Amino acid sequence: MDYKDLANLIFPDIKDYTYYEEKYPERNLPEGAEVLRVAPSPTGFIHIGGLFQGLLAKKIADQTGGVFFVRIEDTDQKRKIDNGVEEILNAFEKYGLSPDETVGRGNYGPYIQSERGDIYKSYAKKLISEGKAYPCFCTPEELEESRSNQEKAKERTGYYGKWAKCRNMPIDMAIEKIKNGVPYVVRFRSPGNPERKIKHKDVIKGSIDFPENDLDIIIIKSDGLPTYHFAHAVDDHLMRTTLVTRSDEWVSSVPLHLQLFYELGFKIPKYGHTAPLMKQDGDSKRKLSKRKDPEAAVSYYTEEGIPKESVIEYMMNIINSNFEMWRKQNPDKDINEFEVDIRKMGVSGALFDMVKMHDVSKNVISRFSAEKVYEDAKAWAEVYDSELNEMLENKEYSLRILGIERGNQKPRKDIAKWSDLKDIIYYMYPEKFNKMDKNAFEYQKVTDKSEIEKIVKLYFEKYYNENDDKETWFNKMKDLAGELGYAREVKEFKANPDGYKGHVGDISTVIRVTLTGKCNTPDLYEIIRILGKEEILRRVK
Ligand code: GLU
Repeated sequence: MDYKDLANLIFPDIKDYTYYEEKYPERNLPEGAEVLRVAPSPTGFIHIGGLFQGLLAKKIADQTGGVFFVRIEDTDQKRKIDNGVEEILNAFEKYGLSPDETVGRGNYGPYIQSERGDIYKSYAKKLISEGKAYPCFCTPEELEESRSNQEKAKERTGYYGKWAKCRNMPIDMAIEKIKNGVPYVVRFRSPGNPERKIKHKDVIKGSIDFPENDLDIIIIKSDGLPTYHFAHAVDDHLMRTTLVTRSDEWVSSVPLHLQLFYELGFKIPKYGHTAPLMKQDGDSKRKLSKRKDPEAAVSYYTEEGIPKESVIEYMMNIINSNFEMWRKQNPDKDINEFEVDIRKMGVSGALFDMVKMHDVSKNVISRFSAEKVYEDAKAWAEVYDSELNEMLENKEYSLRILGIERGNQKPRKDIAKWSDLKDIIYYMYPEKFNKMDKNAFEYQKVTDKSEIEKIVKLYFEKYYNENDDKETWFNKMKDLAGELGYAREVKEFKANPDGYKGHVGDISTVIRVTLTGKCNTPDLYEIIRILGKEEILRRVK
């Protein structure tokens, strides 16, 4: 009896690996093209980090004329949920990260691990027949005992060297046990020696030294499915991945992965391990947590109404810090024109900061047309906010409101997310304005009631004319200021603050707050035009 017999006994009807090598040949791609993937698990929770990985992978694939694919890692059957796969693929689609290949399309599939069982077995069979893998019959109790012995002896824990009980079991004995139905897993026979160091160059992290791996890890579990490590090697080989990008929780597994690739006879891909997304928590930073931080879930952005463009734009800031400068210089360029340089990614965790996200989003939305703001906000409101949905019912009126200070040199930047929109445009609707608490109006410098009355009264009796153009309108505001003892220009006031009651800005603020309840609004002239004479006078009354 030899290793081949053992392999045939364990995997009797499994195709030779050469079949798969031929079926999934090297990809015929131009020089420099990279093949990248993301490999999410369908657990029902889509982490924002997964989207981040997708953006990075897709960008590099697209930039190099390569391929971006999504592979579903569902070998952990306990964590898997029913619509998990669909949800993941929809999320990628929605955020514009449509893969070239995934479940249902592409020549290197199946792209879902639970459908690749025979493929993993074929390569496990190859390893067993070469003596590079073996069945292990250790029970959980035996493994636990070994572990506590290791701890007592102050030795490294794990299944390796002399602690790997089944590693040197005679073949006949293993065959006998299998024939008798003793349960087993398949383990990799590691040829490594941790006294030896290996040098590895990570595309993001640079050179790293590791001790060699010597753990005999499980490659096929008792349920017949592969472990992550083994599936990674087999899949990324057969799917011809050239650059493995993934989160740096996997970096410590690199020595094992290099060894697996080598022993399987696979060409080793490049690796790029990305630093985790971090969250400021008091004085310290920690990893963004699925349990503690709502913003860790992709669904959060949908619910809050943060546009997908904003999320992608913010993530680009994290991928390469020079993106911010690029965007400043190219405010109107398509984001896809920005070249990502993976070697310039940060090696320490970047803050995933909602304040910054909102800031970026305000800029992104400021570049939207009124029509797009309307369509996106309406679609959001239909699901999440019936009151806003009603307000947006009148499309023509809504477009006028949303169009204020848009499409010009200095567009308005007051909207970060659709869930803020209702408050921002509330006062533009007469029946909503009626409901506003007039005592809470945000008068600023001029708060004296009789003074406010005086300003408003004089303005509407003497100066306001609905047909004024903007310049005339503004000049009248200055005249009004002058007439009431306020400086016509801010700088006049600054030069002689005791000579005036205030300045023209204080006057226009009084008008603004009277008409809208707010001291910060987009262009007041536009607001007055849109509300119209009748409504304005009604409000003043
Ligand atoms: N399923 C693994 C994870 O979600 C994939 C890691 C990888 O990209 O290789 O962490």
